[in-house]
Amino acid sequence: MESLPNYLERLTNAHCLSWPTFASKLLYPELRKVSSKQRLINLNVTSHDFVSGLCATLSQISRREDIEQMTMIYWCNIISAKKLFREFRAWCPLCIHDQLTKYPLPYEPLLWTLEGVRVCTIHNVKLEDHCPICKKQTPYFHCKSPYAFCVNCNAFVGDSRNLIAVQNNNDLDLSNCIGRLITYEKKGAQPNSTTFIEKVGRYIKKNYKSNLSEFSKAIRVPEREVINIFCEGQTPRLETIAKICTHMKKSLHQIAK
Ligand SMILES: [Zn+2]
Ligand SMILES: [Zn+2]
Repeated sequence: MESLPNYLERLTNAHCLSWPTFASKLLYPELRKVSSKQRLINLNVTSHDFVSGLCATLSQISRREDIEQMTMIYWCNIISAKKLFREFRAWCPLCIHDQLTKYPLPYEPLLWTLEGVRVCTIHNVKLEDHCPICKKQTPYFHCKSPYAFCVNCNAFVGDSRNLIAVQNNNDLDLSNCIGRLITYEKKGAQPNSTTFIEKVGRYIKKNYKSNLSEFSKAIRVPEREVINIFCEGQTPRLETIAKICTHMKKSLHQIAK
């Protein structure tokens, strides 16, 4: 599934419009609530109403019914907005190469926009996040060049000559776990954090005798963060949820429903 910022960029370029014109003409008034372009990357979490409104507007003008699937809005009651999205783009050059054999331009999957996803789950290589030529990073939603081209030097970033095969299976497991969230068929009520916390709490009680310190070591998450989640009611980050699910060998919807 394509990411929403990438889709918005494609729409803007396809209409040969500048971003402000596109936003004010086609998306107004939803986007007047956004103070900067950069905040668009957080658009599925900064405000549920805002994102729902934006998705509804985009569905009307594009006649697509899958716009919300490009966001993480379905999981907003259970996954924290904190460190949900990357600040800069990441990509798998091998996937970009494969996309170019099928489409005129490559597109960015939602999966690559998420923190905690460091590995391509198809090719098992580390995601790249620096331009191979100028070594700079590309922020989201710049609209200056098509996806897969560096915003700074305009170089094609899909060069696969120096790819590193992943040795760390933990990173691959996390990416696969988060990938299953994205592809999960989202129907019915949104999962909530209460069921998740209760079920994981029972698991910790049974397997770790309620010792949060031991559990935090087992899932490789700082103890303070685990305490905040299970004692203070803090909403967990996506990467932490993926670590818990991987450790329990269950998917998030299995635990949270
Ligand atoms: Zn790939
Ligand atoms: Zn560059």
